[in-house]
Amino acid sequence: MQTDRDVTPYIRLFGRYLRDLGLPVTQQREAVADVVFTSEGHRSVDEIEGELRERDERIGKATIYRTLDLLVRSRLVAERDFGEGFKRYEHRLSDHPVHEHLICLECGKVTEFESNELYRVENRVRQEHGFQPVRRRLEIYGLCKECHDAGVELPIEGLMCPIETV
Ligand SMILES: [Zn+2]
Ligand SMILES: [Zn+2]
Repeated sequence: MQTDRDVTPYIRLFGRYLRDLGLPVTQQREAVADVVFTSEGHRSVDEIEGELRERDERIGKATIYRTLDLLVRSRLVAERDFGEGFKRYEHRLSDHPVHEHLICLECGKVTEFESNELYRVENRVRQEHGFQPVRRRLEIYGLCKECHDAGVELPIEGLMCPIETV
């Protein structure tokens, strides 16, 4: 999914971050950043590479990885791991910069949700443990509504009782 909003300010921010590190602001790096900033949702490296190819940008995978790494370190982009064996990326400048994820184990659909309860948990640990929370991550795995309605059943994970009950 693509968005039409103007991402130039974010590209400029990224350029400033690169210059602060003494790294060159190349057209290739800006092209990778543009794809991530204009994407809604969570993009894999393969998807980003495909999008660049569609835009006639020929950029090697190593450059894409390196640029994504820089984007994550600049804190403009968040790296996600939904247990698929590869990472996904999403810009942190969306309408909902702070959100959690629901991941369907059947179809892989990722749904975002916001949780005020988590803020309360953070406040509680601050009081009870004197701990200063900086960031958090909540991922809930299960079946999305469509898969559940379609009658999908997931095998129970972990050990089963070894005693025969017949
Ligand atoms: Zn599903
Ligand atoms: Zn998300």
